[in-house]
Amino acid sequence: MAIKALRGTYDIFPPKSKLWQKVENLARELFDFYGYGEIRTPIFEQTSLFSRSIGENTDIVSKEMYTFQDKKGRSITLRPEATAPVIRAYLQHNMQQLNQICKLSYLGPMFRYERPQAGRNRQFYQLGTELIGSANPYYDAESIALAYDFISRLGIKCPAVKINSVGDTQSKSNYATLIKNYLSPKISSMCGDCQIRIEKNPLRVLDCKNPSCKEHIANAPSLLDSLSETSKTHFDKVREYLETMEIPYTIDNYLVRGLDYYTDTIFEIIHSNLGSQDVLGGGGRYNNLVQEMGGPSVGAVGFAFGIDRLILVLEALGQLGPKTNSGLDFFILNIDDSVFNQHIKLIKRLREKNIKIDICAENKSFKAQMRNANKLNAEFVIIRGSDEIENNVIKIKNMNDKTEETISITDDDSLFNAVLERIKQNDKKPVF
Ligand code: AMP
Repeated sequence: MAIKALRGTYDIFPPKSKLWQKVENLARELFDFYGYGEIRTPIFEQTSLFSRSIGENTDIVSKEMYTFQDKKGRSITLRPEATAPVIRAYLQHNMQQLNQICKLSYLGPMFRYERPQAGRNRQFYQLGTELIGSANPYYDAESIALAYDFISRLGIKCPAVKINSVGDTQSKSNYATLIKNYLSPKISSMCGDCQIRIEKNPLRVLDCKNPSCKEHIANAPSLLDSLSETSKTHFDKVREYLETMEIPYTIDNYLVRGLDYYTDTIFEIIHSNLGSQDVLGGGGRYNNLVQEMGGPSVGAVGFAFGIDRLILVLEALGQLGPKTNSGLDFFILNIDDSVFNQHIKLIKRLREKNIKIDICAENKSFKAQMRNANKLNAEFVIIRGSDEIENNVIKIKNMNDKTEETISITDDDSLFNAVLERIKQNDKKPVF
């Protein structure tokens, strides 16, 4: 039986990988533009990092982690998200001592044992940012603005930005009591998961997709009504800044997120093309996490987009059609073995000059090699068969207008200069 990729994982290869690179490159450039520097953390960490920070009773920790024992019996987990590893790294490397706001961005694979479906995989990819060291509401708004800017620059029009506030620790606990009391007469008719959640993690009840549970929570008390004065003021400021920056948003009173560490502002960016997995990305503020992980009491805010979902939307919109190879300057037809070594020497020298040149080392027919040149989007083809060798010439064929030039060559240098001269005439910028 041939070995296949595991369920919930997949391969990304050309031409689609071009689209992935485009998304990733844009993220890198934009994050840099907003003052974020890239952090790369390990793909696996101690299990306790995630169970403590994300929350023991969340779906991620209780059901979805790829956890295993290493050869020394230590419990290791493939990272299901990047916020906890980033904060772990921030503290491990004493970045708080820099005494300034720390802006870190990341990009890479995450792992969750979920039921695979469109837009939901077991190995998926996130790109995101974390701003550590301030509880100022401006940074909540700036993170949302950055997320919105990214989506807009990708060409994804009209994403819906939903925001809400879960409030500080006090507000969260007020609301937990409120929702518990509200739902206690109805809880026996709610799903099994909700019956557990109402005891262990009451806010998550708001996120249940079960139709009968949804009915029960439709008129539940609003999170915003439970906010402490400080959280209320914070949220009002976030809204004010978003309005100043003209970021369109709506408030969703029942929005909650799957990770326990959030405090105050949370947000999601939704796209209608995605069906049931319609959340392109989300995030929010988490003011207690750094301290809970043994660091100072500093505020932090961040977000993550799922790259898999961004790709699905871009494909559906046809905004960034898959591009083929970006094209060669020259393709050398490999017709006569006697000059093969001279050609590979030429290729080496031209590549040092950033000229994009290639040859096919296999002995294919003239026709097949021309087809290959076309496929590779070559601008010029170098033809050097036995006639040309005998007459000390090469032919350079322009693949656009199909014209051919014959150029005399005597040695390696004249061959090199002839090809270089041809590309100079073409006024083509080198690839680098
Ligand atoms: P979260 O870390 O749960 O806040 O998720 C942030 C974003 O990551 C989501 O909006 C999705 O775009 C993406 N995401 C989360 N889980 C998955 C998954 N299993 N498969 C694909 N994308 C995911």
